[in-house]
Amino acid sequence: MKLVKAHSLPFDVTRYTGVLPELDELFELITIMGDKGKVKLLGEIEHSNRHFPLIGLTIGTEDKTAPTFGLFAGVHGLERIGSQVLLAYLRTFLNLLQWDKNTQDILQRTRFVLIPVINPVGMFLKRRSNGNGVDLMRNAPVKADKISPFSFYGGHRISSRLPWYQGVENSPMELEAEVLCNFVKEEVFSSQLAISVDVHSGYGTKDRFWFPYAKTRNPFKNISEALGLKTLLDKTYPNHIYKVEPQSNQYVTHGDLWDFLYDQHSSLENNRLFLPFCLEMGSWLWIKKNFRQAFSILGVFNPIATHRLQRTLRRHIHLFDFLLRAVQSPGSWAEIPSTEKLLLRKQALDLWYED
Ligand SMILES: [Zn+2]
Repeated sequence: MKLVKAHSLPFDVTRYTGVLPELDELFELITIMGDKGKVKLLGEIEHSNRHFPLIGLTIGTEDKTAPTFGLFAGVHGLERIGSQVLLAYLRTFLNLLQWDKNTQDILQRTRFVLIPVINPVGMFLKRRSNGNGVDLMRNAPVKADKISPFSFYGGHRISSRLPWYQGVENSPMELEAEVLCNFVKEEVFSSQLAISVDVHSGYGTKDRFWFPYAKTRNPFKNISEALGLKTLLDKTYPNHIYKVEPQSNQYVTHGDLWDFLYDQHSSLENNRLFLPFCLEMGSWLWIKKNFRQAFSILGVFNPIATHRLQRTLRRHIHLFDFLLRAVQSPGSWAEIPSTEKLLLRKQALDLWYED
């Protein structure tokens, strides 16, 4: 593994090498990126006498109003395939950036921002929550409606020893969650049109592409744009694998970070559009094909067989490329006449919110 030269970064990378393979890969990619992007040390967590960095990257134009594509992963420490999928795409993207004029061109007018490993301590400990036992995806100050008090997976405040623990009521968000939110506010909120994807794995047998809300079955404000984007994806890639839907069509949760950020962005009441998605890669399919995996805690959330891992790492490149194009070309899905938008809204209500 090639080490990043410490002087080319705003922090000493040797402090963090050898802790997680995903971080080591990120450091290698940072050398490929060179001066084509910026690296930010957003925070550091100490755990088990080790230091874990929270690192953000920004690539492309410095104009923060420009179209922006955000990619995030590793919120849940067990789902390391999410970070690996992100890093695989970043590797392709950075190599294209070395020689492909189109990619170089795109970045003159677009921003690509990322946090590849949001919960490095959880990943190190091989558990879903962070080092304090808090599920970061239940940790935002967002209360779900119509959720059963017995729905533990929706978030609870009973004990950090149980999964899906939200943290102590009315306390500040965990550092990882706060860093993520601040980064998104700083790097995404000023964009006229931004799409973000937070990559997860674990639920079901399908790859699901979820938009808000997680907290309620009520429609979010931008269902027309969500359907516009889905329609464009269906037309452009008719054989794609994604089930596009509001997350609450599957289950409702408290404390979803993207619900929180979406509502914060909406409260600014400008004409900017921010669509945060979660890609939930269906890992039950991997288990079905390799039942031995069910007996390994990592295996439940990550493809184990080499060919299946490779397939997963290349599986989502089209989707990310599509979204990078979509933020630059809103004319056919987001910036459309209001009559068309109304029609899309009605169709979206029929499609996703029937009951
Ligand atoms: Zn997850």
